[in-house]
Amino acid sequence: MTSAHLAPVPVTVRVPGKVNLELLVGGLRPDGFHSLSTVFQAVSLHDDVTVVEADDWGCTVTGPLAVGVPESGDNLAVRAARALARVTEIDTAVHITIRKGIPVAGGMAGGSADAAAALVACDRLWELGMAREELEEIGADLGSDVPFLVAGGTAIGSGRGERLAPVLARGTFHWVFALAEGGLSTPTVFAEIDRLRADRDIPEPSPTPELMGALRSGDPTQLALHLRNDLQEAAIALRPGLQEVIDDGLEFGALAGIVSGSGPTVAFLARDHETALDLAVALTASGAVRDVRRAHGPVHGAHVIPGPVD
Ligand code: ATP
Repeated sequence: MTSAHLAPVPVTVRVPGKVNLELLVGGLRPDGFHSLSTVFQAVSLHDDVTVVEADDWGCTVTGPLAVGVPESGDNLAVRAARALARVTEIDTAVHITIRKGIPVAGGMAGGSADAAAALVACDRLWELGMAREELEEIGADLGSDVPFLVAGGTAIGSGRGERLAPVLARGTFHWVFALAEGGLSTPTVFAEIDRLRADRDIPEPSPTPELMGALRSGDPTQLALHLRNDLQEAAIALRPGLQEVIDDGLEFGALAGIVSGSGPTVAFLARDHETALDLAVALTASGAVRDVRRAHGPVHGAHVIPGPVD
């Protein structure tokens, strides 16, 4: 039997979301982007992305967090798969099914994660055998966070965030994420930070040695002291309720609370697994947040798994 007679075999890739442990925003560059220095950590809130050969390009989005994600060619996963096909001169289409476990428009790079997953999945489906670095390079044209979600772990991102260098991080950190009603648009948050800082001198951003030391120590109390997000001020200006959520989490025992990326998800760092559980219960009971998720990090970047998991 030739391969033409075989039923198409789907490939599923699991991809994490990210939290920015440090997000330093420099000035606006001539190309319209800000220079960034960020330290990403991949966390165990996952999307599962399945690709299968099809007559036409298409996309289906499932799961309780699917609301607001396009099922058209605008979906970042479809754009990524098409970009890979173009670069490698592949002439077939795929249908992509995304099971969302990463909050949408929540500052956790869910769309970029799906693009990263689609690249890794199509690489396997089409038996291209591309190096991770090659996929990261194609991903960088689709979004600044895509290369990191191919790579995973903990890494410094510079440039627009797309130039990566790995970071030594010991141990596992425990996170609780407070999900907010509705999303925040990343460009709007950047515009707000420009407005708020119009009269300030903005230094060229670079990773702080104290944060690197805290990651090497594996001690969450050290890490808590050095979490920083320059976009937090803008996110809170646009959504004042986020400050209350942060204050609640700290009162319920979090070591630190920080807006994740451009928000509005708030990431709380917990001392350990048990404290994270208690914190998640207290935040849920407070009724102040839409939903709560626990996760740990760092975890692997986009990787093939045996099949879609319900
Ligand atoms: P970032 O942290 O990278 O700024 P985000 O987590 O705030 O991003 P996303 O979840 O990536 O935001 O979604 C931003 C918008 O991108 C959504 O509102 C949606 O319209 C669009 N989008 C396109 N493809 C996807 C996808 N596969 N998953 C989620 N959103 C997508």
